[in-house]
Amino acid sequence: MSDRKASVVVLGGGPGGYEAALVAAHLGASVTVVDRDGLGGAAVLTDCVPSKTLISISDFMSRFEAATDLGVGFPADAPGDGDHVATADASRVNARILALAAAQSHDIGQRLQADGIRVCRGVGRLLSSTKVRLEPADGDPEEIEADVVLVATGATPRVMDSARPDGERILTWQQIYGLTELPEKLVVVGSGVTGAELAHAYLGLGSEVVLVSSRDRVLPGEDADAATVIENVFRRRGMQVLNRSRAAGAERVGDGVVVRLEDGRTVEGSHVLLAVGSVPQTAGIGLEEAGVELTPSGHVRVDRVSRTSVRGIYAAGDCTGVLPLASVAAMQGRIAMAHSLGDAVAPLNLRGVSAHIFTDPEIATVGYSQKDIDEGLIDAQTVMLPLATNPRAKMQNVQDGFVKLFARPGIGTVVGGVVVAPRASELIFPVTLAVQHRLTVDQLAATFTVYPSMSGSIAEAARRLHSLD
Ligand SMILES: Cc1cc2nc3c(=O)[nH]c(=O)nc-3n(C[C@H](O)[C@H](O)[C@H](O)COP(=O)(O)OP(=O)(O)OC[C@H]3O[C@@H](n4cnc5c(N)ncnc54)[C@H](O)[C@@H]3O)c2cc1C
Repeated sequence: MSDRKASVVVLGGGPGGYEAALVAAHLGASVTVVDRDGLGGAAVLTDCVPSKTLISISDFMSRFEAATDLGVGFPADAPGDGDHVATADASRVNARILALAAAQSHDIGQRLQADGIRVCRGVGRLLSSTKVRLEPADGDPEEIEADVVLVATGATPRVMDSARPDGERILTWQQIYGLTELPEKLVVVGSGVTGAELAHAYLGLGSEVVLVSSRDRVLPGEDADAATVIENVFRRRGMQVLNRSRAAGAERVGDGVVVRLEDGRTVEGSHVLLAVGSVPQTAGIGLEEAGVELTPSGHVRVDRVSRTSVRGIYAAGDCTGVLPLASVAAMQGRIAMAHSLGDAVAPLNLRGVSAHIFTDPEIATVGYSQKDIDEGLIDAQTVMLPLATNPRAKMQNVQDGFVKLFARPGIGTVVGGVVVAPRASELIFPVTLAVQHRLTVDQLAATFTVYPSMSGSIAEAARRLHSLD
């Protein structure tokens, strides 16, 4: 191999792209990242970081509301609107969220610059499998020869022709941070992860919320027991959940919106939020012309080391449709660079991915699911422990949630788990460690936990799966 540095061009500066760029630079390549909307991508600027920040504010307010159940009093002159102990100033909340996202994007830029990575703000498209055209936001277009191209162009919210977002009252999840007032009555269309998380967020902030779900229950893709807990909590806190109700369209009427359902019913609100999935940003960037195979849904087809159908072209993140998580996008990008630049590489293992939903309580899952077991994909024993019996949960007034573990019969290897709890996104880590490293329930059970702690329930669940065979 010559001493010439390999040239790597990355299309898209989200987690799939920028994490890969860092690895490629570390491995000695000359790296260019071209990004259209801002480093960090949708993950940092409009999706993951803003939504989690909004949810943390909402959760903060909910804790004030719940504090009165614990005997905490608030002086009569405490700020509030009479019904709520605390109120949210949407302008300030959203300004803080956008500033935080911009700061995170800026930090990523600094990091890339420090590692000698060239960043170009603009659009990139493939001219061939080894040539990329950069069209900077300011400046002249340029063509770059590339030994390796990584496509990490992400996805964008799906919109319905019958409900065109206007950024004011008919909104995608990327437009909500422009609001200067809290929606009085928000109709959320779609009860997948994004719809459920944002419905939860606005309920906590003080909006009246109607969640329109086309399926039998919210979070149709998740563990059924976990989804049932969340739906019950939503209803108990006053959210109106409309199951088996498919939205046909939405329009502005006067000062508000009307959402039409397919069965003829209508739902009125002040705003509607559309959370009906996303579409990959793969059109018009030369992929098909370069011979890159796309799936019928327009995603780039990749294998477990992120290779596309064309040698030298890799893809990572939401544009591949493998699993729409920032952590997975980043891992795919890192794997792509390690593979293309000749470093040691392990193929992507989706069973080790811990996924989470930031409702209250949160849901976190890893490994094989209950559905996999019920459908016979794997033989496993299950134990489910409600959190209500956990001493720490009692102290913290946590009434909803559980820990579920799945383990192979006899040998007891942990193959999956579900945690529904406050901060489940943190609590899932020991289960993820167990799944990733094939630990047994006995090894989990023999590990000390703090008393009292929520993680005590994970060890207890493992203890209950101890085999006497
Ligand atoms: C509301 C919401 C909340 C989420 N929360 C979480 C969470 O809590 N945890 C989690 O792990 N995941 C979360 N996700 C998923 C996560 O945001 C995505 O999986 C992640 O953004 C995917 O990263 P990516 O690099 O593939 O794409 P993106 O982050 O979308 O970045 C793609 C980048 O490519 C750029 N681009 C597109 N086309 C071109 C082009 N032709 N030339 C140059 N640049 C281009 C775009 O401008 C963008 O900057 C959430 C998603 C949503 C919708």
